[in-house]
Amino acid sequence: MSKYWSETVRNLKPYVPGEQPRDRDFIKLNTNECPFPPSPRVAAAIREFSSDGLRLYPDPNSSALKESLAKTYEVAANQVFVGNGSDEVLAFAFKTFFDQAAPILFPDITYSFYTVYCDLFDIEYEAIALNDAYEIDLDDYRRSNGGIIFANPNAPTGIELSRAQIEALAQDNTESVIIVDEAYTDFGTESAVELINKYPNLLVIQTFSKSRSLAGIRLGYAFGDSDLIAGLERVKNSFNCYPIDSLASACAIAALEDREYFEATCSKIIDIRSWLTEILTQRGFRVLPSNTNFLLASHPDIPAAQLYASLKQQGVLVRYFNKPRIDNFIRITIGTREEVEQLVALLPEPPAP
Ligand code: PMP
Repeated sequence: MSKYWSETVRNLKPYVPGEQPRDRDFIKLNTNECPFPPSPRVAAAIREFSSDGLRLYPDPNSSALKESLAKTYEVAANQVFVGNGSDEVLAFAFKTFFDQAAPILFPDITYSFYTVYCDLFDIEYEAIALNDAYEIDLDDYRRSNGGIIFANPNAPTGIELSRAQIEALAQDNTESVIIVDEAYTDFGTESAVELINKYPNLLVIQTFSKSRSLAGIRLGYAFGDSDLIAGLERVKNSFNCYPIDSLASACAIAALEDREYFEATCSKIIDIRSWLTEILTQRGFRVLPSNTNFLLASHPDIPAAQLYASLKQQGVLVRYFNKPRIDNFIRITIGTREEVEQLVALLPEPPAP
């Protein structure tokens, strides 16, 4: 703490990402990265990339990347925004849409960056409790608000809402922006992207970090009505005109062009997830139903903090959140089959019949 910090900075509680240890070779099942490499076309794009071009600033509008996203998701290029990771897209979206008089609404258990952005940008919020099954009940959001944001599927619970449920909310909530954070949508959830043509206040945010195995290049994107996108561009151009570097853009375009590889990656994750869910259940764990690349699981006898520590000591990193209602769960990212088998070998045996 320094006397030179602004009051806002003194009061911030910055987001703490999952561990990225450099000192030991862990089986890393803690930050929802993809265990499979990106498409071979990404490696080819890097090989073919001319370093001469790096002396120039990248295209401030990221037009080629936006065109590629527009083609892939069947929207217009002016309905696409791109940023340095979906974290940055989220930050810009909070700044662009959420300074109305009423508090914004989001679930009490959700992506922990949302409260951080509220503190940073001085946005009031109300955290709405998930129900006892850890589900979002959208009826709780049908009230006056300065905006609504939720992750779908939610994180770290993994539980999803259907597109029809989101559409019903959008029909009722027309006076403020609804943001759907779809970081994990590709692992089996219906995306809300197609609804952006019907609902001018709906913004859908996705990322290259999970299903496209590109967490290292930091690229996220949003789809919405062109007026929403124009607002995001104003904020972006008041902060950093070039958030997407030219190499990242080339990698992302190459990844988008390989639909077959992307689909194969997602289905491998889904298969391993089903298998691990079954094993965990046999071993007596409570596992929340997940359509993501992670599982939230709780053991009836072994406290989650203890399980986390003992797995870590044996070389497997999972995520533990010391937070109300989820402090007896561990979150396990779906790894390769071999990684997950090594985790399973360290788990408690099934309960006696
Ligand atoms: N939203 C959710 C729900 C997430 O879990 C994450 C990953 N931590 C992000 C957004 C941010 O992803 P990225 O910045 O890597 O695109």
